[in-house]
Amino acid sequence: MSSGQIQNDSEIKFIADTMLGRLAKWLRILGYDTLYPGQESDQRLARIAAEEGRILLTRDTELASRKGFRKLLVDSDRLAEQLSQVIEAFHLKTNDRILSLCLLCNCPLREIQKDSVRDKVPPYVFQTQSRFFQCPECDKIFWPGTHLDHIRTELERLGFVL
Ligand SMILES: [Zn+2]
Repeated sequence: MSSGQIQNDSEIKFIADTMLGRLAKWLRILGYDTLYPGQESDQRLARIAAEEGRILLTRDTELASRKGFRKLLVDSDRLAEQLSQVIEAFHLKTNDRILSLCLLCNCPLREIQKDSVRDKVPPYVFQTQSRFFQCPECDKIFWPGTHLDHIRTELERLGFVL
């Protein structure tokens, strides 16, 4: 795939190098499929990027200069600047897909019946929230209301206006 090719937004997938764990988590929060394998050789990161059509996000100039896959050399050590750079480079949407992926597993969440979470969430949450989502991998339950408030507050603190 050439780096100039226009991709459908929903096809954008990332893999982040070991220095970019917080950035990876925030891309998942925004709903973008992002692998974060931790300590891996450059060779292996490059291979996963090429095989799975993922954009490699790296702070390593040597790795970023390799050929055969899409990549972005992340300029800053600061999370807010890293996130800005990625959002601008790939025209990511900061609102549409928030909380569609599990933040731990990178798996798409499934909506579940409210009745089924009665004993699994705090009573106040059960009373005040109407929609619940669960990760099929780790079973963690998310509810957009309060989670979204926290995420928006944090994004605003980082300098993003939603
Ligand atoms: Zn999960």
